[in-house]
Amino acid sequence: MVIRYSIMKPDLLDIICCPVCKGDLELRDAQSDENEIISGKLVCKNCGREYPIEDGIPDLLPK
Ligand SMILES: [Zn+2]
Repeated sequence: MVIRYSIMKPDLLDIICCPVCKGDLELRDAQSDENEIISGKLVCKNCGREYPIEDGIPDLLPK
């Protein structure tokens, strides 16, 4: 069994934070399939940076 940590689940929002400022991330424009978030974006509540989610994988690299 392959564990795919990168797949977005709503619970993951409690774990991950903004890689730049460590602020809380808010999920916006989410498209979900059952319990998995397929696409959308994560927006930092602190610094306002946006991180896209594509194919269920959040891109948390600072731009
Ligand atoms: Zn931030």
